[in-house]
Amino acid sequence: MYNLSNPSVIKKLLDESGFSFKKSLGQNFLINPSVCPEMADAACSDDNFGVLEIGPGIGVLTVELASRAKKVVSIELDEGLRPVLAKTLSDFDNVELIFGDAMKLDLRKIIATKFAGMKVSVCANLPYYITSPLIMMLLESKLPIETITVMVQKEAATRLCAKIGSRESGAVSVAVKYYSDPKMLFTVSHGSFLPAPKVDSAVIQLSVLKSPCVVTNNEANFFKLVKAGFSQRRKTLVNSVSSMLSIDKSSIILALEQCGLSPDIRTEKLTMEQLSQVSNIIFK
Ligand code: SAM
Repeated sequence: MYNLSNPSVIKKLLDESGFSFKKSLGQNFLINPSVCPEMADAACSDDNFGVLEIGPGIGVLTVELASRAKKVVSIELDEGLRPVLAKTLSDFDNVELIFGDAMKLDLRKIIATKFAGMKVSVCANLPYYITSPLIMMLLESKLPIETITVMVQKEAATRLCAKIGSRESGAVSVAVKYYSDPKMLFTVSHGSFLPAPKVDSAVIQLSVLKSPCVVTNNEANFFKLVKAGFSQRRKTLVNSVSSMLSIDKSSIILALEQCGLSPDIRTEKLTMEQLSQVSNIIFK
């Protein structure tokens, strides 16, 4: 077993394979030994889990997942990591590597074929450049996943887990809350990575709901309203929604009144229930 938290071991392994870091792929590898066991414990509540990992890097989180899960499938975009992973994962026969772009692969098919009969969770130290698109893709595709346990930049974590109706919330917080129960687990300092990024990170867990947390007449219209409402944060909901969606102000004011809300309210003040009520009335 390699000590994958030791920078000199990592440098030797990478040098032997002629690997060089690609900043564009968000390659900051974890070297804090306490983080991966904690993430893996959160992702595998029992040993009947199949874990889908995005971006194994040199395999530091993968080995912790493989020690706890029934099976791990790890998707890595960078082919240059193939020889490194062949060495670091050689002790495990329950890990399968797929080289490709996690945003483009058919994850539903991968889950169905690789994890038959298992509960499935996603666990990853995500490349920062695809954090929100990847999380939204996982949630919107309604994949059969129990939990998503991921490390993201701390600022993104705050936004993703924000209480709806608070200043920190935004369109992405509403979308995450619609499909899941989000929780901030713990923060990770920027010095825990090689190379060290400029900002700190945090691990969050999204427990995927069996059905959305509010009832909407039409999901697409609900998200159109949410995106428009948050698009101009200093404006009232009436002004931003009417300008973004070309809807008459009077019908938006009427919808707010029917929900007992002031016509001057900003979108960030509404709860999930109020957002869905307003959307259901506007798009009746
Ligand atoms: N899991 C490792 C760790 O914690 O040290 C590496 C994490 S590093 C932040 C992100 C990893 O995702 C890198 O290995 C990078 O090559 C990979 N990656 C970047 N974009 C990807 C994509 N679209 N699909 C799959 N993997 C990707």
